[in-house]
Amino acid sequence: MPRTPSRRNVLRGLTVAGTAAVVGFDTVSRSWATDGTTSVALTGIPALDGTLLTDAASLSAAADDFGHIVHRGPRAVLRPGSVRDVVSMVRFCNTHCLPVAPRGQGHAPFGQAQAEGGLVIETTPLASIGPVGPDSTTVTVGAGARWSEVARATLAHGLTPPVFTDYLELSVGGTLSVGGLGGQAHRHGAQVDNVTELRVVTGAGELVRCSPTRRADLFHAVLAGLGQCAVIVEATLRLVPAPETVRHYHLPYTDLETFLDDQRLLIEEARFDYVDGQVSADADGAFRVYTLEAVAYGAPVGPAPDDAALLRGLRHDAARLRYEDKPYFDFLNRLAPWAAALKAAGVWNFAHPWLNLMVPGTRAASLAAPLLEDLTPETLGPGGVVLFYPLLRDRLTTPLLRASDEPTSYLFDILRAVPPGDSAAVDGALAGNRAAYESVAAAGGTQYPVGSIPFTPADWRAHFGPAWPALKAAKRTYDPRGILVPGQHVF
Ligand SMILES: Cc1cc2nc3c(=O)[nH]c(=O)nc-3n(C[C@H](O)[C@H](O)[C@H](O)COP(=O)(O)OP(=O)(O)OC[C@H]3O[C@@H](n4cnc5c(N)ncnc54)[C@H](O)[C@@H]3O)c2cc1C
Repeated sequence: MPRTPSRRNVLRGLTVAGTAAVVGFDTVSRSWATDGTTSVALTGIPALDGTLLTDAASLSAAADDFGHIVHRGPRAVLRPGSVRDVVSMVRFCNTHCLPVAPRGQGHAPFGQAQAEGGLVIETTPLASIGPVGPDSTTVTVGAGARWSEVARATLAHGLTPPVFTDYLELSVGGTLSVGGLGGQAHRHGAQVDNVTELRVVTGAGELVRCSPTRRADLFHAVLAGLGQCAVIVEATLRLVPAPETVRHYHLPYTDLETFLDDQRLLIEEARFDYVDGQVSADADGAFRVYTLEAVAYGAPVGPAPDDAALLRGLRHDAARLRYEDKPYFDFLNRLAPWAAALKAAGVWNFAHPWLNLMVPGTRAASLAAPLLEDLTPETLGPGGVVLFYPLLRDRLTTPLLRASDEPTSYLFDILRAVPPGDSAAVDGALAGNRAAYESVAAAGGTQYPVGSIPFTPADWRAHFGPAWPALKAAKRTYDPRGILVPGQHVF
Protein backbone atom coordinates (compact mmCIF):
# COMPACT_ATOMS: atom_id res chain seq x y z
CA MET A 1 0.00 0.00 0.00
CA PRO A 2 1.47 3.35 -0.99
CA ARG A 3 0.62 5.09 2.23
CA THR A 4 3.86 5.53 4.08
CA PRO A 5 5.97 8.03 2.12
CA SER A 6 3.28 10.57 1.35
CA ARG A 7 1.74 10.42 4.81
CA ARG A 8 5.13 11.03 6.35
CA ASN A 9 5.64 14.09 4.19
CA VAL A 10 2.34 15.63 5.18
CA LEU A 11 2.86 14.85 8.82
CA ARG A 12 6.36 16.28 8.75
CA GLY A 13 4.84 19.57 7.67
CA LEU A 14 2.36 19.38 10.51
CA THR A 15 4.96 18.51 13.09
CA VAL A 16 7.16 21.45 12.14
CA ALA A 17 4.17 23.68 12.59
CA GLY A 18 3.78 22.44 16.17
CA THR A 19 2.01 19.33 17.40
CA ALA A 20 0.49 20.65 20.58
CA ALA A 21 -0.41 24.07 19.28
CA VAL A 22 -3.07 23.16 16.73
CA VAL A 23 -5.82 25.52 17.76
CA GLY A 24 -7.99 26.58 14.89
CA PHE A 25 -9.60 25.92 11.58
CA ASP A 26 -9.46 28.80 9.15
CA THR A 27 -12.68 28.91 7.18
CA VAL A 28 -11.30 31.47 4.74
CA SER A 29 -8.19 29.65 3.61
CA ARG A 30 -9.78 26.31 4.61
CA SER A 31 -6.65 25.00 6.27
CA TRP A 32 -5.74 23.52 9.60
CA ALA A 33 -3.81 26.17 11.52
CA THR A 34 -1.44 26.00 14.45
CA ASP A 35 -0.91 29.07 16.58
CA GLY A 36 -3.38 31.18 14.69
CA THR A 37 -0.78 32.61 12.32
CA THR A 38 1.00 29.67 10.79
CA SER A 39 -0.90 27.62 8.26
CA VAL A 40 0.16 24.02 7.81
CA ALA A 41 0.50 22.07 4.62
CA LEU A 42 -3.14 21.08 4.55
CA THR A 43 -4.92 23.68 2.51
CA GLY A 44 -8.01 23.08 0.44
CA ILE A 45 -10.18 21.64 3.18
CA PRO A 46 -13.66 21.34 1.66
CA ALA A 47 -16.63 23.45 2.69
CA LEU A 48 -18.63 21.62 5.34
CA ASP A 49 -22.20 21.54 6.65
CA GLY A 50 -20.81 20.74 10.11
CA THR A 51 -17.73 21.75 12.03
CA LEU A 52 -14.06 20.88 12.01
CA LEU A 53 -12.80 21.25 15.56
CA THR A 54 -9.18 21.85 16.42
CA ASP A 55 -9.50 23.33 19.90
CA ALA A 56 -7.53 21.70 22.69
CA ALA A 57 -10.56 20.33 24.52
CA SER A 58 -11.93 18.57 21.43
CA LEU A 59 -8.55 17.13 20.52
CA SER A 60 -7.88 15.85 24.00
CA ALA A 61 -11.37 14.30 24.26
CA ALA A 62 -10.70 12.44 21.00
CA ALA A 63 -7.37 11.23 22.40
CA ASP A 64 -9.13 9.46 25.26
CA ASP A 65 -11.68 6.67 25.56
CA PHE A 66 -13.38 4.42 28.08
CA GLY A 67 -10.09 2.62 28.73
CA HIS A 68 -8.09 5.76 29.65
CA ILE A 69 -4.95 3.80 28.77
CA VAL A 70 -4.01 4.92 25.25
CA HIS A 71 -3.89 8.60 24.30
CA ARG A 72 -3.18 9.52 20.69
CA GLY A 73 -4.09 13.02 19.62
CA PRO A 74 -5.70 13.74 16.25
CA ARG A 75 -5.14 16.97 14.30
CA ALA A 76 -8.82 17.65 14.04
CA VAL A 77 -12.23 16.32 14.92
CA LEU A 78 -15.07 16.39 12.42
CA ARG A 79 -18.53 16.96 13.83
CA PRO A 80 -20.38 16.26 10.58
CA GLY A 81 -23.45 18.20 9.59
CA SER A 82 -24.23 15.61 6.93
CA VAL A 83 -23.07 12.40 5.32
CA ARG A 84 -21.62 14.65 2.62
CA ASP A 85 -19.18 16.02 5.23
CA VAL A 86 -17.94 12.50 5.95
CA VAL A 87 -17.42 11.89 2.23
CA SER A 88 -15.60 15.22 1.75
CA MET A 89 -13.28 14.82 4.70
CA VAL A 90 -12.46 11.16 4.03
CA ARG A 91 -11.58 12.16 0.45
CA PHE A 92 -9.45 14.98 1.77
CA CYS A 93 -7.63 12.69 4.20
CA ASN A 94 -7.22 10.05 1.51
CA THR A 95 -5.61 12.61 -0.77
CA HIS A 96 -3.19 13.61 1.99
CA CYS A 97 -2.74 10.08 3.40
CA LEU A 98 -3.95 11.19 6.82
CA PRO A 99 -5.31 8.64 9.27
CA VAL A 100 -9.06 8.68 9.98
CA ALA A 101 -11.07 7.05 12.75
CA PRO A 102 -14.83 7.24 13.23
CA ARG A 103 -15.83 7.50 16.87
CA GLY A 104 -19.26 6.60 18.18
CA GLN A 105 -19.46 6.72 21.96
CA GLY A 106 -15.72 6.19 22.49
CA HIS A 107 -16.35 3.10 24.63
CA ALA A 108 -13.56 1.08 23.10
CA PRO A 109 -10.93 0.75 25.84
CA PHE A 110 -7.58 0.62 24.04
CA GLY A 111 -7.28 3.49 21.57
CA GLN A 112 -9.28 1.74 18.85
CA ALA A 113 -11.15 4.93 17.86
CA GLN A 114 -8.13 7.23 17.97
CA ALA A 115 -6.22 8.61 14.97
CA GLU A 116 -2.84 10.04 15.88
CA GLY A 117 -2.05 13.07 13.75
CA GLY A 118 -5.20 12.60 11.71
CA LEU A 119 -8.94 13.07 11.81
CA VAL A 120 -11.50 11.67 14.24
CA ILE A 121 -15.04 11.69 12.85
CA GLU A 122 -17.71 11.92 15.53
CA THR A 123 -20.72 9.94 14.40
CA THR A 124 -23.11 11.21 17.09
CA PRO A 125 -24.72 13.79 14.76
CA LEU A 126 -25.61 10.98 12.32
CA ALA A 127 -28.35 9.63 14.56
CA SER A 128 -31.50 9.52 12.44
CA ILE A 129 -33.93 6.67 13.15
CA GLY A 130 -36.68 5.45 10.89
CA PRO A 131 -39.27 5.83 9.68
CA VAL A 132 -40.73 2.84 11.50
CA GLY A 133 -44.32 1.64 11.74
CA PRO A 134 -46.17 -1.34 13.20
CA ASP A 135 -45.59 -3.45 10.05
CA SER A 136 -41.91 -2.64 9.62
CA THR A 137 -39.56 -5.58 9.31
CA THR A 138 -36.48 -3.36 9.32
CA VAL A 139 -35.45 0.12 10.44
CA THR A 140 -32.73 2.28 8.94
CA VAL A 141 -30.68 4.23 11.47
CA GLY A 142 -27.72 6.59 11.43
CA ALA A 143 -24.44 5.07 12.61
CA GLY A 144 -24.30 7.41 15.56
CA ALA A 145 -27.67 6.38 16.99
CA ARG A 146 -27.38 4.65 20.35
CA TRP A 147 -29.08 1.31 20.93
CA SER A 148 -31.21 2.86 23.68
CA GLU A 149 -32.59 5.31 21.12
CA VAL A 150 -33.22 2.57 18.58
CA ALA A 151 -35.03 0.50 21.22
CA ARG A 152 -37.25 3.37 22.31
CA ALA A 153 -38.16 4.29 18.72
CA THR A 154 -39.03 0.76 17.64
CA LEU A 155 -40.77 -0.27 20.87
CA ALA A 156 -43.19 2.58 20.29
CA HIS A 157 -44.50 0.33 17.47
CA GLY A 158 -44.22 -2.99 19.35
CA LEU A 159 -41.01 -3.93 17.53
CA THR A 160 -37.42 -4.52 18.54
CA PRO A 161 -34.04 -5.47 17.12
CA PRO A 162 -33.56 -9.10 18.21
CA VAL A 163 -30.14 -8.66 19.85
CA PHE A 164 -28.81 -5.99 22.18
CA THR A 165 -25.56 -5.35 23.92
CA ASP A 166 -26.00 -5.36 27.69
CA TYR A 167 -25.22 -1.66 27.86
CA LEU A 168 -27.42 0.35 25.52
CA GLU A 169 -25.46 3.62 25.31
CA LEU A 170 -23.17 2.34 22.56
CA SER A 171 -23.44 3.53 18.98
CA VAL A 172 -24.85 1.33 16.25
CA GLY A 173 -21.74 1.96 14.10
CA GLY A 174 -19.44 1.14 17.01
CA THR A 175 -20.99 -2.22 17.83
CA LEU A 176 -21.49 -3.23 14.18
CA SER A 177 -17.75 -2.68 13.74
CA VAL A 178 -16.98 -5.30 16.40
CA GLY A 179 -19.94 -7.70 16.40
CA GLY A 180 -22.46 -6.74 19.07
CA LEU A 181 -23.07 -9.65 21.45
CA GLY A 182 -25.65 -10.10 24.15
CA GLY A 183 -27.61 -12.86 25.85
CA GLN A 184 -29.98 -13.15 22.87
CA ALA A 185 -27.11 -13.96 20.46
CA HIS A 186 -27.40 -17.71 21.09
CA ARG A 187 -30.75 -17.51 19.28
CA HIS A 188 -30.35 -14.70 16.77
CA GLY A 189 -26.61 -14.35 16.22
CA ALA A 190 -24.80 -11.10 16.92
CA GLN A 191 -26.05 -7.64 15.99
CA VAL A 192 -23.97 -7.90 12.80
CA ASP A 193 -25.96 -10.99 11.83
CA ASN A 194 -29.13 -8.89 11.86
CA VAL A 195 -28.17 -6.17 9.39
CA THR A 196 -29.74 -6.19 5.94
CA GLU A 197 -28.02 -3.20 4.34
CA LEU A 198 -25.34 -0.61 5.06
CA ARG A 199 -24.47 2.80 3.67
CA VAL A 200 -20.77 3.39 4.05
CA VAL A 201 -18.01 5.78 3.04
CA THR A 202 -15.00 3.80 1.88
CA GLY A 203 -11.43 4.81 2.66
CA ALA A 204 -11.24 6.20 -0.86
CA GLY A 205 -14.20 8.47 -0.06
CA GLU A 206 -16.86 6.66 -2.10
CA LEU A 207 -20.41 6.63 -0.67
CA VAL A 208 -21.73 3.10 -1.26
CA ARG A 209 -24.81 1.06 -0.40
CA CYS A 210 -23.96 -2.57 0.25
CA SER A 211 -25.81 -5.69 1.34
CA PRO A 212 -25.47 -9.48 1.04
CA THR A 213 -26.46 -9.14 -2.63
CA ARG A 214 -24.92 -5.79 -3.58
CA ARG A 215 -21.19 -5.16 -3.18
CA ALA A 216 -21.23 -8.17 -0.86
CA ASP A 217 -17.45 -8.12 -0.48
CA LEU A 218 -17.68 -4.66 1.07
CA PHE A 219 -20.70 -5.57 3.24
CA HIS A 220 -18.87 -8.56 4.69
CA ALA A 221 -15.66 -6.57 5.16
CA VAL A 222 -17.45 -3.85 7.14
CA LEU A 223 -19.54 -5.91 9.57
CA ALA A 224 -17.25 -6.80 12.49
CA GLY A 225 -14.47 -5.37 10.29
CA LEU A 226 -13.06 -3.00 12.93
CA GLY A 227 -13.58 0.02 10.67
CA GLN A 228 -10.79 -1.09 8.33
CA CYS A 229 -12.52 -0.66 4.97
CA ALA A 230 -15.22 1.97 5.40
CA VAL A 231 -17.02 4.31 7.77
CA ILE A 232 -20.59 3.13 8.39
CA VAL A 233 -22.97 6.08 8.06
CA GLU A 234 -26.26 4.19 8.07
CA ALA A 235 -27.43 0.65 8.85
CA THR A 236 -30.68 -1.17 8.16
CA LEU A 237 -31.51 -3.44 11.08
CA ARG A 238 -33.87 -6.40 11.26
CA LEU A 239 -36.89 -5.98 13.56
CA VAL A 240 -39.04 -8.58 15.31
CA PRO A 241 -42.14 -8.28 17.50
CA ALA A 242 -41.22 -7.20 21.03
CA PRO A 243 -42.47 -8.76 24.26
CA GLU A 244 -44.23 -6.48 26.70
CA THR A 245 -42.76 -8.11 29.79
CA VAL A 246 -40.05 -10.63 30.62
CA ARG A 247 -39.31 -13.01 33.49
CA HIS A 248 -35.69 -12.67 34.58
CA TYR A 249 -34.32 -15.68 36.51
CA HIS A 250 -31.14 -15.68 38.62
CA LEU A 251 -29.97 -19.26 39.20
CA PRO A 252 -27.18 -19.79 41.75
CA TYR A 253 -24.49 -22.45 41.23
CA THR A 254 -21.59 -23.55 43.36
CA ASP A 255 -19.48 -25.14 40.67
CA LEU A 256 -18.03 -23.65 37.45
CA GLU A 257 -18.40 -26.73 35.27
CA THR A 258 -22.03 -27.35 36.23
CA PHE A 259 -22.84 -23.69 35.67
CA LEU A 260 -21.28 -23.76 32.18
CA ASP A 261 -22.89 -27.11 31.29
CA ASP A 262 -26.31 -25.80 32.23
CA GLN A 263 -25.76 -22.66 30.17
CA ARG A 264 -24.93 -24.89 27.22
CA LEU A 265 -27.98 -27.09 27.79
CA LEU A 266 -30.23 -24.04 27.86
CA ILE A 267 -28.97 -22.64 24.57
CA GLU A 268 -28.95 -26.01 22.82
CA GLU A 269 -32.60 -26.45 23.77
CA ALA A 270 -33.42 -22.76 23.15
CA ARG A 271 -35.51 -22.73 26.30
CA PHE A 272 -34.94 -19.07 27.07
CA ASP A 273 -34.75 -15.91 25.00
CA TYR A 274 -31.69 -14.62 26.80
CA VAL A 275 -28.89 -16.49 28.62
CA ASP A 276 -25.71 -15.27 30.26
CA GLY A 277 -24.06 -15.55 33.66
CA GLN A 278 -21.76 -13.87 36.16
CA VAL A 279 -19.04 -14.98 38.53
CA SER A 280 -18.57 -13.01 41.72
CA ALA A 281 -16.48 -13.24 44.86
CA ASP A 282 -17.57 -15.02 48.03
CA ALA A 283 -16.96 -13.70 51.55
CA ASP A 284 -13.36 -14.92 51.36
CA GLY A 285 -12.76 -12.98 48.15
CA ALA A 286 -12.62 -16.14 45.99
CA PHE A 287 -14.40 -16.01 42.63
CA ARG A 288 -16.66 -19.03 43.02
CA VAL A 289 -20.19 -17.62 43.21
CA TYR A 290 -21.82 -18.44 39.88
CA THR A 291 -25.14 -16.94 38.81
CA LEU A 292 -26.80 -18.06 35.61
CA GLU A 293 -29.15 -15.41 34.25
CA ALA A 294 -31.95 -16.57 31.96
CA VAL A 295 -34.83 -14.55 30.61
CA ALA A 296 -38.13 -15.72 29.13
CA TYR A 297 -40.12 -13.30 27.00
CA GLY A 298 -43.81 -12.99 27.74
CA ALA A 299 -46.78 -11.91 25.63
CA PRO A 300 -47.31 -11.20 22.83
CA VAL A 301 -44.26 -13.10 21.54
CA GLY A 302 -43.94 -15.85 24.14
CA PRO A 303 -46.22 -17.99 26.31
CA ALA A 304 -46.68 -17.15 30.00
CA PRO A 305 -43.43 -18.43 31.55
CA ASP A 306 -43.82 -21.98 32.89
CA ASP A 307 -41.21 -22.16 35.66
CA ALA A 308 -41.23 -25.94 35.94
CA ALA A 309 -40.73 -26.50 32.21
CA LEU A 310 -38.09 -23.79 31.87
CA LEU A 311 -36.03 -24.99 34.85
CA ARG A 312 -36.44 -28.75 34.26
CA GLY A 313 -33.28 -30.73 34.94
CA LEU A 314 -31.10 -27.77 35.84
CA ARG A 315 -28.63 -28.26 38.67
CA HIS A 316 -28.75 -24.87 40.36
CA ASP A 317 -29.36 -24.36 44.07
CA ALA A 318 -33.17 -24.27 43.87
CA ALA A 319 -33.56 -22.88 47.39
CA ARG A 320 -31.80 -19.68 46.40
CA LEU A 321 -33.43 -19.21 43.00
CA ARG A 322 -35.05 -15.82 42.43
CA TYR A 323 -36.79 -14.15 39.57
CA GLU A 324 -38.58 -10.95 38.78
CA ASP A 325 -41.07 -9.89 36.11
CA LYS A 326 -40.39 -6.55 34.48
CA PRO A 327 -41.20 -4.51 31.37
CA TYR A 328 -39.05 -5.48 28.38
CA PHE A 329 -37.40 -2.07 28.06
CA ASP A 330 -36.48 -2.04 31.75
CA PHE A 331 -34.80 -5.39 31.23
CA LEU A 332 -32.88 -4.12 28.18
CA ASN A 333 -31.87 -0.98 30.05
CA ARG A 334 -30.95 -2.75 33.30
CA LEU A 335 -27.36 -1.49 33.28
CA ALA A 336 -28.35 2.17 33.30
CA PRO A 337 -28.40 2.44 37.14
CA TRP A 338 -25.06 0.55 37.32
CA ALA A 339 -23.44 2.97 34.86
CA ALA A 340 -24.92 5.98 36.65
CA ALA A 341 -23.58 4.75 40.00
CA LEU A 342 -20.08 4.19 38.57
CA LYS A 343 -20.11 7.64 37.00
CA ALA A 344 -21.25 9.22 40.26
CA ALA A 345 -18.49 7.40 42.15
CA GLY A 346 -15.84 8.50 39.65
CA VAL A 347 -15.12 4.89 38.66
CA TRP A 348 -16.08 5.50 35.02
CA ASN A 349 -12.81 7.46 34.83
CA PHE A 350 -10.73 4.53 36.06
CA ALA A 351 -8.55 2.67 33.56
CA HIS A 352 -10.33 -0.34 32.01
CA PRO A 353 -7.89 -3.00 30.88
CA TRP A 354 -10.71 -5.30 29.80
CA LEU A 355 -10.25 -8.91 28.78
CA ASN A 356 -12.80 -10.41 26.37
CA LEU A 357 -12.13 -13.93 25.16
CA MET A 358 -13.93 -16.33 22.84
CA VAL A 359 -13.33 -19.65 24.51
CA PRO A 360 -14.01 -23.07 22.92
CA GLY A 361 -16.93 -24.72 24.72
CA THR A 362 -15.17 -27.96 25.68
CA ARG A 363 -12.24 -26.07 27.20
CA ALA A 364 -14.13 -23.22 28.86
CA ALA A 365 -13.93 -24.44 32.46
CA SER A 366 -10.26 -25.47 32.31
CA LEU A 367 -9.21 -22.22 30.61
CA ALA A 368 -11.26 -19.94 32.85
CA ALA A 369 -10.50 -21.64 36.19
CA PRO A 370 -6.88 -20.44 36.56
CA LEU A 371 -7.86 -16.90 35.60
CA LEU A 372 -10.61 -16.91 38.22
CA GLU A 373 -8.24 -18.36 40.82
CA ASP A 374 -5.82 -15.46 40.23
CA LEU A 375 -8.54 -12.85 40.51
CA THR A 376 -9.24 -10.92 43.72
CA PRO A 377 -11.87 -8.26 44.37
CA GLU A 378 -9.00 -5.76 44.48
CA THR A 379 -7.57 -6.74 41.08
CA LEU A 380 -11.03 -6.78 39.53
CA GLY A 381 -11.61 -3.30 40.91
CA PRO A 382 -14.75 -1.36 41.81
CA GLY A 383 -17.69 -2.12 39.54
CA GLY A 384 -15.67 -4.83 37.79
CA VAL A 385 -17.55 -7.89 36.52
CA VAL A 386 -16.88 -11.39 35.23
CA LEU A 387 -19.29 -12.65 32.59
CA PHE A 388 -19.98 -15.77 30.52
CA TYR A 389 -22.19 -15.71 27.41
CA PRO A 390 -22.77 -19.10 25.77
CA LEU A 391 -22.91 -18.90 21.95
CA LEU A 392 -23.78 -21.32 19.17
CA ARG A 393 -21.39 -21.43 16.23
CA ASP A 394 -24.16 -21.87 13.65
CA ARG A 395 -25.89 -18.63 14.68
CA LEU A 396 -22.76 -16.53 14.09
CA THR A 397 -22.81 -16.10 10.33
CA THR A 398 -20.75 -12.91 9.86
CA PRO A 399 -17.35 -14.01 8.50
CA LEU A 400 -15.27 -11.47 10.45
CA LEU A 401 -16.86 -12.17 13.83
CA ARG A 402 -14.58 -14.91 15.05
CA ALA A 403 -15.38 -17.58 17.61
CA SER A 404 -13.91 -21.05 18.06
CA ASP A 405 -14.74 -23.78 15.54
CA GLU A 406 -16.56 -25.80 18.18
CA PRO A 407 -20.37 -25.87 18.10
CA THR A 408 -20.43 -23.90 21.36
CA SER A 409 -18.15 -21.05 22.41
CA TYR A 410 -18.31 -18.85 25.48
CA LEU A 411 -17.64 -15.15 25.48
CA PHE A 412 -15.69 -14.91 28.75
CA ASP A 413 -15.14 -11.37 30.02
CA ILE A 414 -13.04 -10.11 32.93
CA LEU A 415 -13.91 -6.42 33.05
CA ARG A 416 -11.50 -4.66 35.40
CA ALA A 417 -11.29 -1.13 36.70
CA VAL A 418 -7.90 0.20 37.85
CA PRO A 419 -7.48 3.51 39.69
CA PRO A 420 -6.19 6.28 37.42
CA GLY A 421 -2.45 6.73 37.66
CA ASP A 422 -1.73 3.15 38.76
CA SER A 423 0.29 2.41 35.65
CA ALA A 424 1.96 -0.63 37.22
CA ALA A 425 -1.46 -2.23 37.74
CA VAL A 426 -2.50 -1.36 34.19
CA ASP A 427 0.73 -2.81 32.76
CA GLY A 428 0.26 -5.94 34.86
CA ALA A 429 -3.32 -6.34 33.66
CA LEU A 430 -2.30 -5.87 30.02
CA ALA A 431 0.44 -8.49 30.34
CA GLY A 432 -2.06 -10.81 32.04
CA ASN A 433 -4.55 -10.20 29.23
CA ARG A 434 -1.95 -11.11 26.66
CA ALA A 435 -1.00 -14.30 28.48
CA ALA A 436 -4.66 -15.29 28.83
CA TYR A 437 -5.25 -14.65 25.13
CA GLU A 438 -2.29 -16.84 24.23
CA SER A 439 -3.54 -19.79 26.25
CA VAL A 440 -7.03 -19.43 24.76
CA ALA A 441 -5.64 -19.07 21.22
CA ALA A 442 -3.52 -22.20 21.72
CA ALA A 443 -6.73 -24.05 22.60
CA GLY A 444 -8.53 -22.88 19.43
CA GLY A 445 -10.20 -19.74 20.77
CA THR A 446 -9.52 -16.09 20.20
CA GLN A 447 -10.49 -12.67 21.57
CA TYR A 448 -13.70 -10.70 21.12
CA PRO A 449 -12.13 -7.42 19.99
CA VAL A 450 -13.62 -4.94 22.43
CA GLY A 451 -10.94 -5.17 25.08
CA SER A 452 -7.34 -4.30 25.87
CA ILE A 453 -5.07 -7.02 24.58
CA PRO A 454 -1.80 -5.93 22.95
CA PHE A 455 -2.19 -7.26 19.39
CA THR A 456 0.05 -7.14 16.31
CA PRO A 457 -0.91 -7.43 12.62
CA ALA A 458 0.36 -11.04 12.77
CA ASP A 459 -2.05 -11.70 15.66
CA TRP A 460 -4.90 -10.27 13.59
CA ARG A 461 -4.02 -12.54 10.69
CA ALA A 462 -4.28 -15.51 13.01
CA HIS A 463 -7.44 -14.11 14.61
CA PHE A 464 -9.30 -13.71 11.30
CA GLY A 465 -8.01 -17.06 10.03
CA PRO A 466 -9.93 -18.12 6.91
CA ALA A 467 -11.59 -14.69 6.72
CA TRP A 468 -8.25 -12.88 6.47
CA PRO A 469 -7.70 -13.08 2.65
CA ALA A 470 -11.11 -11.47 1.96
CA LEU A 471 -10.49 -8.71 4.51
CA LYS A 472 -7.04 -8.04 3.08
CA ALA A 473 -8.41 -7.89 -0.47
CA ALA A 474 -11.22 -5.55 0.61
CA LYS A 475 -8.72 -3.31 2.40
CA ARG A 476 -6.70 -3.03 -0.79
CA THR A 477 -9.81 -2.24 -2.83
CA TYR A 478 -11.68 0.10 -0.50
CA ASP A 479 -8.95 1.73 1.59
CA PRO A 480 -5.99 1.57 -0.79
CA ARG A 481 -3.97 4.15 1.11
CA GLY A 482 -4.58 2.48 4.44
CA ILE A 483 -5.94 5.56 6.20
CA LEU A 484 -8.80 4.00 8.16
CA VAL A 485 -8.75 3.18 11.86
CA PRO A 486 -5.06 2.76 12.68
CA GLY A 487 -5.87 2.31 16.38
CA GLN A 488 -6.86 -1.30 15.73
CA HIS A 489 -3.35 -2.13 14.40
CA VAL A 490 -4.76 -4.63 11.92
CA PHE A 491 -2.59 -3.64 8.91
C1 LIG B 1 -19.95 -0.38 29.61
C2 LIG B 1 -19.76 -1.18 28.35
C3 LIG B 1 -20.57 -2.26 28.09
C4 LIG B 1 -20.41 -3.01 26.94
N1 LIG B 1 -21.23 -4.07 26.72
C5 LIG B 1 -21.10 -4.80 25.59
C6 LIG B 1 -21.96 -5.89 25.32
O1 LIG B 1 -22.84 -6.25 26.11
N2 LIG B 1 -21.81 -6.56 24.15
C7 LIG B 1 -20.85 -6.20 23.22
O2 LIG B 1 -20.77 -6.80 22.17
N3 LIG B 1 -20.01 -5.18 23.48
C8 LIG B 1 -20.11 -4.48 24.63
N4 LIG B 1 -19.25 -3.45 24.86
C9 LIG B 1 -18.18 -3.19 23.89
C10 LIG B 1 -18.69 -2.26 22.80
O3 LIG B 1 -19.67 -2.91 22.02
C11 LIG B 1 -17.58 -1.84 21.83
O4 LIG B 1 -16.48 -1.30 22.50
C12 LIG B 1 -18.12 -0.84 20.82
O5 LIG B 1 -17.21 -0.74 19.74
C13 LIG B 1 -18.32 0.50 21.48
O6 LIG B 1 -19.18 1.31 20.72
P1 LIG B 1 -18.84 2.86 20.60
O7 LIG B 1 -19.96 3.51 19.93
O8 LIG B 1 -18.42 3.43 21.90
O9 LIG B 1 -17.60 2.73 19.60
P2 LIG B 1 -16.21 3.52 19.61
O10 LIG B 1 -15.45 3.18 20.85
O11 LIG B 1 -16.44 4.93 19.33
O12 LIG B 1 -15.50 2.80 18.36
C14 LIG B 1 -15.12 1.45 18.44
C15 LIG B 1 -14.41 1.05 17.15
O13 LIG B 1 -15.34 1.06 16.07
C16 LIG B 1 -14.95 2.01 15.10
N5 LIG B 1 -16.17 2.69 14.68
C17 LIG B 1 -16.99 3.44 15.44
N6 LIG B 1 -18.01 3.90 14.69
C18 LIG B 1 -17.83 3.42 13.44
C19 LIG B 1 -18.52 3.58 12.22
N7 LIG B 1 -19.63 4.32 12.13
N8 LIG B 1 -18.04 2.95 11.11
C20 LIG B 1 -16.91 2.20 11.18
N9 LIG B 1 -16.20 2.04 12.31
C21 LIG B 1 -16.66 2.64 13.43
C22 LIG B 1 -13.98 2.94 15.81
O14 LIG B 1 -13.09 3.59 14.93
C23 LIG B 1 -13.30 1.99 16.75
O15 LIG B 1 -12.30 1.28 16.08
C24 LIG B 1 -19.38 -2.69 26.02
C25 LIG B 1 -18.54 -1.61 26.29
C26 LIG B 1 -18.72 -0.84 27.45
C27 LIG B 1 -17.79 0.28 27.73
